[in-house]
Amino acid sequence: LSVYGAPVIGRHGNWLGIIVVLHDITEIIRLEEIRKDFVANVSHELRTPITSIKGFIETLLDGAMKEPVLLKDFLEIIQKESERLHVLVNDLLELSGIEREGFQLNKRQVSLQEIVKDAKKITSGLAERKNMRIIDETAAITVMADADRLIQVMVNLLTNAINYSKEGTTITIAALENAHEVILSVTDEGMGIEAKELPRLFERFYRVDRARSRESGGTGLGLAIVKHLIEAHGGKVAVESEIGKGTTFTIYIPKRTKEL
Ligand code: ADP
Repeated sequence: LSVYGAPVIGRHGNWLGIIVVLHDITEIIRLEEIRKDFVANVSHELRTPITSIKGFIETLLDGAMKEPVLLKDFLEIIQKESERLHVLVNDLLELSGIEREGFQLNKRQVSLQEIVKDAKKITSGLAERKNMRIIDETAAITVMADADRLIQVMVNLLTNAINYSKEGTTITIAALENAHEVILSVTDEGMGIEAKELPRLFERFYRVDRARSRESGGTGLGLAIVKHLIEAHGGKVAVESEIGKGTTFTIYIPKRTKEL
């Protein structure tokens, strides 16, 4: 709370009273804290791969490059860490783009079956490497949406479903509609998420298990992007999970949104 007080003096120098302005700045401070946390998080996330890349290059230049095995191993690490930086910067640009004023969706009538097909294609390599089966129960439904953004939402959810599940398990994609909205869900048989973690899941950089996320190439931004993109469509995202059983993410997109 900021308090500002000033005496009010009349025309003849007489004391009329005092004006007090009370200004609630808790919200401003809260937003400032979030901003500072964000900058600290971004800096940390960028520094980790850069430090690693620098370190391995120095070791190579100090002589390790003369050993063919080390040379290959280190170059592969450098490649992986560069890829990590690339994904992180892309995710950050994506998020800041969505948050920018004047951000516009490129909406048209899109087929959910097409969206799911494209998202499955993009994640198929990852799914095959873990020998995962994807059951697609998407019905022939269309919705007014930005196709590329919706594909990205599905790619993020599928990538998580694959990364946080054991090899050989199954992922089910379903879609249905009612009078007001279309409902898309991704269900996995993975590790699940504790109930107490669920409220913070969609925050930027929030991870239940930092090491596991890093290992699978996660940036901690995937679900924040999902939430922003779905809210831009006037919709909502929900999550249900049980430890050891699996997780379902459900997206609700209204059929009619108020045009602003
Ligand atoms: P990340 O890049 O770390 O995957 P996300 O924003 O996509 O970041 O997800 C945030 C965190 O939520 C993940 O680090 C993980 O701990 C948890 N999570 C997301 N999806 C799932 C899932 N399907 N099963 C279990 N945990 C999940």
